[in-house]
Parts: sequence; structure tokens; C-alpha cells
Amino acid sequence: MEVSVTAPAARRNGHRPSRSVAVVGGGFGGVAAAVMLRRAGYDDVTVFERGERVGGVWHHNTYPGAACDVPSHLYEFSFAPNPRWSRRYAPQAEIQAYLEDVARRHRVLDRIRTGTEVQSAHWDEERGKWSLETSSGSHEADFLLTACGQLSVPKVPALPGLERFEGPAFHTAHWRHDVDLTGKRVAVIGTGCSAIQVVPAIQPIVEQVDVYQRSPGWTIPKMDFAYTERAQRLFERIPLLQRLDRAAVFAFMELGAAAMTGNRWLLPPFRAVARRQITKTIEDPELRDKVTPSDEVGCKRVMLTDEWYPTLTEPNVELVTAPIAELTPGGIRDASGTERAADALVLATGFRSHDFVAPMEIIGRDGLALAQAWEEVARAYLGLSVPGFPNMFLLYGPNTNGGTGSVIYTLEAGMGHVIAALRELERAGADRIEVSDEAAGEFDRELREALAGTVWHTGCTSWYVDENGNDPSQWPWLWSSYRRRTERLEPGAYRLSSSADVLAHG
Ligand SMILES: Cc1cc2nc3c(=O)[nH]c(=O)nc-3n(C[C@H](O)[C@H](O)[C@H](O)COP(=O)(O)OP(=O)(O)OC[C@H]3O[C@@H](n4cnc5c(N)ncnc54)[C@H](O)[C@@H]3O)c2cc1C
Repeated sequence: MEVSVTAPAARRNGHRPSRSVAVVGGGFGGVAAAVMLRRAGYDDVTVFERGERVGGVWHHNTYPGAACDVPSHLYEFSFAPNPRWSRRYAPQAEIQAYLEDVARRHRVLDRIRTGTEVQSAHWDEERGKWSLETSSGSHEADFLLTACGQLSVPKVPALPGLERFEGPAFHTAHWRHDVDLTGKRVAVIGTGCSAIQVVPAIQPIVEQVDVYQRSPGWTIPKMDFAYTERAQRLFERIPLLQRLDRAAVFAFMELGAAAMTGNRWLLPPFRAVARRQITKTIEDPELRDKVTPSDEVGCKRVMLTDEWYPTLTEPNVELVTAPIAELTPGGIRDASGTERAADALVLATGFRSHDFVAPMEIIGRDGLALAQAWEEVARAYLGLSVPGFPNMFLLYGPNTNGGTGSVIYTLEAGMGHVIAALRELERAGADRIEVSDEAAGEFDRELREALAGTVWHTGCTSWYVDENGNDPSQWPWLWSSYRRRTERLEPGAYRLSSSADVLAHG
């Protein structure tokens, strides 16, 4: 499953490609870009990361219990397998350490400028360059790659009275490690992927945790376990074993993707497992009702957990389903008028997933702003390129998220496409590449038609779909098809040109 990145012809002949690339974002996407470009012979790469370290979400999300929900043999780079994962699902700190280690071992750490935010990027049509304004000065590059992630900007809902709450209040992505929750009454708002990890992690130490739920999501067993030293050694000595495990996990994920997209007849077994998880662990019929979703399994992101329901049955946990009316200085009043005291407030309220590259401003050809091109909904050809924005590619861009699968796989496939584009330029002796309106329009029609038949559009509220019913998030096919469609350039999909042509024809 590794995207092949052998050296292009120019490099094999002893000549290194000289194109410069600016990458915005130093998470898995930014590191994948730097490593894969380097391996393909492109050395002039600068990665900008506004955080103090590389890592992206794994640097920012340090809440108790933070861990992967994809088995780590798939949630890792295909070109950097780690036989030494301590668990089936690695915890946050281990993933962060892995990513830093990959960047170090592949000698790209020195290309990553941390603590530097890119505020804007402008395409200079005459010179065929991207001009970046960053928090530490200007920068110029031939290519712009955005690797800003879909879940890097926390979302805080407009909660009446939030400013009046007197205790510490923080988002899971900005965990306050200086706040000791031991023996405290804690209110957690949200029951999504972060909440189901953080609540079981803090429940044993707090006096009381009240969890405020807007609508429940389906869960299936995670079946997490620690790898023994012997298992780790086996993976180390026989890499094939790890590759086989990776392939098995991938195949299972593809089954899930098939069920959620065109093959909904595959959903009943998933629904049965999800229902069984509730009935097996919860006896109280009222609590069972509260946690049982009314929507189809998979419509919202299916969550993996072994601990969520048992935790909800603990005597110091209350699941509150009445809507929040307001925050008071000392707690939360719900719509039924009940006020519950809280010493601290945890916002497990997710991310601004539809903003993509925002707040960075990107201005393409003829002064077109990306925000303007995306006024109705963010869209991009294969999630990667947008007409009017030459020499620009988006990693983990619009419609490249899945109900299953590993984002790392998606990022590598996207980078495979970028490298194919760079090679095409070398081959053609050109220096500009831009997706055509026709290819982008045709892809968009195909995509929207396929999305309509997926489980994500069966009438739930989820972070995939916006308030107008637009879906800028999901890939409505199998993951193998993403890889297949991105690994080479479709004939005619892109227009190639050279600066000399542009200058000659105005
Ligand atoms: C808590 C949590 C758990 C997750 N668990 C899983 C999982 O189990 N499996 C899975 O497949 N996915 C998971 N994800 C999704 C995750 O987003 C991807 O797996 C992956 O980490 C995305 O990598 P990325 O590099 O594209 O984006 P990110 O990791 O979000 O990194 C983007 C980086 O870009 C930086 N940035 C953005 N804009 C600018 C700018 N203008 N200038 C400079 N820097 C900028 C940000 O600071 C950030 O560090 C999880 C996400 C979260 C939040």
C-alpha cells in the first residue's frame, strides 16, 4: 500500500528538480509532504507550523484518555512502519513521539518552521510564484501545499452565560493540565469522539461528572489491548506479519466504507453489534433509551470504545439529555430548570471542520479568493485542487474524510498525486499546473450524486454535513478508489503551461 516515490528522470540523470514548495501545517500531512517530496528528489521544501512542535492534532490534543481509534498498524506511514506500538490503539503521546521520530529519521525536521503562522498566500501570475505572509516574515515558493487538517480549529458553541461561569472552562484540544480535577464536580459538554475518551479517564478521580448530550452516537467495541514484548519483537523480526495485520485492518475498514456508501445492506450486522454493546452493559431502561440513537448506524461517526457505557453506569456520572439553557457562575441550568453545580467545565464540542484552510487567506489567479470560490461549499477536484489556483494542492481537503479508514492513508495518496503532478511538469518542461473547470465540475457532479446515496445523508446531525445540507467532508466511495484515482493524473484533467507562454499571451 505504499505510494511509490522513486526519483524522477531528472534526478536519475544527476540533476535535482529545483522547484520550491511551501507547505502549511506540520501535522501528519506536513510531515508526509516533506518526507515524500524529499524522497522524490524535491529538496527545497519549507513547512510552516503555527504550533510550537510538529504533530498537529496529536500535539494539540493532550486530554486524559486521548488515543487513536484506528489500529496503529494502519494509523502510521506505510513508509515508516513501527513494530513497537505499545497497544493496538496507540495513545496520544506515543503517536506524537512517532511523528517526531519519523520527521527526525527522514531528516526533515530542519525544514519545519514551528511557531510560524501563515496568514496569507497570493498567487503572482506574472512570476508564477506563491507569495506567503507569515508571522515571521515573507516567503516565496513555486508550489503551495496546504496541510491544515480538518480538525485543527476547536469549535466552541454559543452557550448563553459562558462568560459568567466562574470556574476553569476549556476545550479538550486546549486541556488545562494546571487544573487538578481530583475531587471536583466537572461538567462535560458533548458526547462525541473526544468525550467518550475523556469521561472514562477522569471519572475515577472526580467527585461527580455530568455529561451533557445533544444526541447520542452509535459505538462499537474497540477491543483494545497491549502488545506484549514478544508480539512487538515478532513484528520487528518479521515485518510481513505487520503488513498482513495492516492489510486485514484495511480490509475491515473497506467493509465499513462499503456499508456506509453504496452498499447499505451491509449495515445490519454493524447495527446489531452496536445495539448489543448497549444492552450488554446498561441495565437501566431509562439510560438505555438515552444512549440509543434514533438515526442509522454510521450516519454520525461510529465511535470505538469499551469504556463509555460502563462509565455512564457509575454512581458519580450523570448523563443529562435536557438541552442546556444557560451557564451560571457556579454550574449549568438545563431547559427543565434543574441547575447542576460544576467546579470546572470541559468543552468536548469538536472542531470547525468545514473551514479547511481558514483563517489563512488564499488568493489565486485574477484576485480570486479561495473563501469566495467556496462561498456555497468547499469543493476541490479529488479534494486536492481547485480551478483558479495554479500550483496549489490541498492535503486532507474537501471530501476526503471517511466514516472509516485512516487519514494517514489519505494523506499519502494525496501526496502521491502531488508528486505525479510535479513529474508531469518535468516531463512536459512546464512550470504551472491547474485543474480544468471541466474536470473539477464533472468530478463534483459525480461526487454529489454518490453522496446522496450514502448513510451520512439519512437525516442525522453530524459534523460531516452543514446546516444547509451541504457535505464538504465525506468521500463517498471505497478508500482503495481514492488511492486509485489519485495515483496518476487523469488525461486532460490538468492544464500545464510555462511562464514564457503566460507572458507571451498576456
Ligand atoms: C482528538 C483527535 C483524534 C483523532 N483520531 C483519529 C484517528 O484515530 N484516526 C484517524 O484517521 N484520524 C483521527 N483524527 C483526525 C486527524 O485530524 C487526522 O488523523 C490527522 O492527524 C490529520 O493530520 P493533518 O496533518 O492533515 O492535520 P492536523 O493534524 O490537524 O495538522 C494541521 C496542522 O496545521 C497547522 N496549521 C493550520 N493552519 C495553519 C497556518 N495558517 N499556518 C501554520 N500552521 C497552520 C495546525 O496548527 C496543525 O498543527 C483525530 C483528530 C482529533 C482532533
